[in-house]
Amino acid sequence: MAPSLEEPDRVEDVIAHPLKQKPTLVAPEPEHCPGPESEQAGAADSCAGCPNQAICASAPKGPDPDIPIIAARLAGVKHKILVVSGKGGVGKSTFTSLLAHAFAINPDNSVGVMDTDICGPSIPKMMGVESETLHVSGAGMSPVYVMDNLGVVSIQFMLPNRDDAIIWRGPKKNGLIKQFLKDVDWGDLDFLLVDTPPGTSDEHLSVNAFLKESGIDGAVVVTTPQEVSLLDVRKEIDFCRKAGIRVLGLVENMSMFVCPKCDHASEIFRATTGGGRGLAEEMGIPFLGAVPIDPRIAMACDYGESFFDSFPDSPACKALKGVVSSLADQIGLDPRDVLPEQ
Ligand code: ADP
Repeated sequence: MAPSLEEPDRVEDVIAHPLKQKPTLVAPEPEHCPGPESEQAGAADSCAGCPNQAICASAPKGPDPDIPIIAARLAGVKHKILVVSGKGGVGKSTFTSLLAHAFAINPDNSVGVMDTDICGPSIPKMMGVESETLHVSGAGMSPVYVMDNLGVVSIQFMLPNRDDAIIWRGPKKNGLIKQFLKDVDWGDLDFLLVDTPPGTSDEHLSVNAFLKESGIDGAVVVTTPQEVSLLDVRKEIDFCRKAGIRVLGLVENMSMFVCPKCDHASEIFRATTGGGRGLAEEMGIPFLGAVPIDPRIAMACDYGESFFDSFPDSPACKALKGVVSSLADQIGLDPRDVLPEQ
């Protein structure tokens, strides 16, 4: 296949100039549409002959008026933390839900989870609110409460049918993500954890671009110890740096498996290149800790239960609490306030 001659967009530019408000179109967007809100709208090769071309070309290209609305929605949130991964399947959503339960152990903390993973929203299942519907009032969408101090909102709640494949193209997905960020009424919160779409996809860029303006603390990067995952995580860390998002640290998930019968430890995803700790050192970012594989984590997620409540003495639970303490440190909090029993 011939190499593409098209210059890729620079991360810094995309983040600095997030997508604009979508103009009203007179026809469906054609294949290879650059996006009616993008800088190339109306001027790209694929725009030639499109009935929307003139509309897109004249659409406003200035700062997105929705950005201040999103920032206002999140103004009462003290700490906003993105959970990111380079690759799917490494435990990003699992870790987000574990982190939320950990923060919520202290009844004085108010915690929110926002699931923006449009292609694989698994937070509702993991938090046990899959069959819930969102309450919408004049003030916006209210989160679904899992505990008195733990609210959840997922983009899944805005999708027509949870089993439908999401095959929308970029611009439509971005529009939905933006709508979602604009509509949720969080009120006052201590912690908001945002489960982001994996990799550096278009949706990932949108979520970061929209939230960056709202003053996020930074991103926690989740990986497995395997080089195949680390490879993508390097790109993710590079992305965060270029986008000006602070990397709060790296968590190595699925680092070991300790057999519950014989206590033998196996490296299922062997760290052939130094694992998460090695990568954190290499890239000069904090290593927050390693969480073992524990089938009870997967089970707790499937049943929408808190792993912390169900298995408080397990090695995985202790490891997770260590990660929470390191993360608290990184955002300038006393770990004993975040997890009082530590
Ligand atoms: P991602 O959000 O990165 O796509 P998920 O959080 O959906 O990944 O996790 C992928 C799978 O791995 C899920 O089945 C989840 O239950 C399981 N899983 C994640 N972390 C662990 C762990 N530490 N121990 C056991 N299973 C895990």
